Amino acid sequence: MSATVRQFDHAPFQRTATARVCAVSEGAVAVDSTVFYPCGGGQPGDTGTMQTDSGRMLNVTDTVKGEHGLIWHRIDGPCPRVGEEVTLDIDWERRYRLMQMHTALHLLSVAVPYPVTGGQMTPDKGRLDFDVAGEALDKAAITAQINAWRADDLPVSTEWIDRAELEANPQLVKTVGAMPPSDSGTVRLVRIGEIDRQPCGGTHVASTGEIAPLEVKSIKNRGAHNRRITLVWQEATGGVS
Ligand SMILES: [Zn+2]
Repeated sequence: MSATVRQFDHAPFQRTATARVCAVSEGAVAVDSTVFYPCGGGQPGDTGTMQTDSGRMLNVTDTVKGEHGLIWHRIDGPCPRVGEEVTLDIDWERRYRLMQMHTALHLLSVAVPYPVTGGQMTPDKGRLDFDVAGEALDKAAITAQINAWRADDLPVSTEWIDRAELEANPQLVKTVGAMPPSDSGTVRLVRIGEIDRQPCGGTHVASTGEIAPLEVKSIKNRGAHNRRITLVWQEATGGVS
């Protein structure tokens, strides 16, 4: 069985696709090709719907990676048959928020130039943990910097490099100890204008101007060498006062 084709790597704005079921397991369906992003790199798996040939509409409650490069869609009803054609449709509002937040977290990693030790995002907020000791990090200054890059409307693009080239340029990897997965010997990089380039398998907006206004909600001290910075949408907070 061949790996699921990852359409979101090249076409993050594609919301629907038809695909063929190639494996089923309890409450989960693997297809030959998908637009649904599987949980990974701090970005949650996509949700949405899967419509079967016979017109049955199933909710996709999560998407995860499996063995042999298969991508599994967790569903809430009886599985379609292997070989059946299905139509996949992403919950786009949720995914688009995740794309905006994911790109915003890359901006945060530039605004705060210290090693990243972890990160997580939801459609409502995102956070990165930084290996930084005692530094005075300023909420308002980081918020202003990120929103200035939003206003600059910097292009966001994807490129692939050889794994050997990445190993020769270890400064590209911002997340400590996290070499990106690479089955084929090439590594996917996400570039933001001329300010950032880092390995990432996630889905991103096409330019920073697409990101809704946001702000640093908190900077928490989580140990001598760990500051956790959380971003939220300004519409949720009533804006920066
Ligand atoms: Zn990323």
